[in-house]
Amino acid sequence: MAEHAVMTSSSATTTAAPLPLLSLVVPFYNESEVIAHFFAQVIPELERLPGIRFEIVCVNDGSRDDTLRQLVAHAERDARVRVIDLTRNFGKEAALSAALNESRGDLVVPFDADLQDPPRMIGVLVDKWREGYDVVLAKRSDRASDSKLKRWTAGMFYRMHNAVAEVKIPENVGDFRLMTREVADALKQLPETRRFMKGLFAWVGYRTAVVEYAREQRVAGDTKFSGWKLWNFALEGFTSFSTLPMRVWTYVGTVVALLSMLRAVYLVIRTLLFGVDVPGYASLSTGVFLLGGIQLIGIGVLGEYIGRIYFESKRRPIYLIRRRHQQDGPHA
Ligand code: UDP
Ligand code: MG
Repeated sequence: MAEHAVMTSSSATTTAAPLPLLSLVVPFYNESEVIAHFFAQVIPELERLPGIRFEIVCVNDGSRDDTLRQLVAHAERDARVRVIDLTRNFGKEAALSAALNESRGDLVVPFDADLQDPPRMIGVLVDKWREGYDVVLAKRSDRASDSKLKRWTAGMFYRMHNAVAEVKIPENVGDFRLMTREVADALKQLPETRRFMKGLFAWVGYRTAVVEYAREQRVAGDTKFSGWKLWNFALEGFTSFSTLPMRVWTYVGTVVALLSMLRAVYLVIRTLLFGVDVPGYASLSTGVFLLGGIQLIGIGVLGEYIGRIYFESKRRPIYLIRRRHQQDGPHA
């Protein structure tokens, strides 16, 4: 506390610099049940932060309920709330990218609408930032709010991803974190259109601190991520940050080819010594099927990467904005 007082008063007297602006960036997809709780809890928490101004950048990711109407109502009442309305549902990663790009703050904090990350943690992140870090990660010390299956699969994902990828993703760290403007601008420079944000966050680096917290249950509504969506999300993570799944087939192919050559030599010698024997049908067909299967897997993996190249090569924008809503009137 004393530390904040010193910081604000010194900046006010010596340079008269404006207080740092914190952008809370939040994607909303069908969150109408949550919005009232969200503003009721988050705004007082942000107002409590000493020596900080704030804005809340809400991205409506093509919601089909009245999320947009509620968000706009808040924006009309409160100049600190801005709403970015996307033209359709682009997915959380794209919505988060939109929110980051639209944010103007010196500090940027991605946040979920459902209050699973406790709003009081924002103050903890800011305190840690004052110690001189560029990124402060919020790590879930306790995933009790997730199901056993989700915890287990998440653990598997982190282990496999980090064993394979060059850029390690810190375990149990979601999108909730604090970053400085410099880091947010670095993220904007990454040109890929298929965005695995956790990986991109890790890729940019910077001086990073970690604080721990316990994740809560959703205040209302349901998760937007089914098991199938999460599985695809994990695949997206692997293929975004590693080419090992593709490279591994070179080694499998080499080993199989070497073994086949050894077998060929063995067969030649055996034929010379003992003559030709007719049986061998079963082993032959097994070999053909096995290799066929292995080749198909290899082709599938190649296809995964070619698909990515295909999408990236289109150079489509990550999202489209229909309209920006804020108090001084709509901005095109
Ligand atoms: N979300 C989004 N677009 C989507 C799916 C989700 O903007 O297509 C938002 C959602 O509104 C929430 C955040 O992403 O603010 C996290 O979603 P959710 O809480 O459903 O994910 P979980 O916490 O279960 O992983
Ligand atoms: Mg959630």
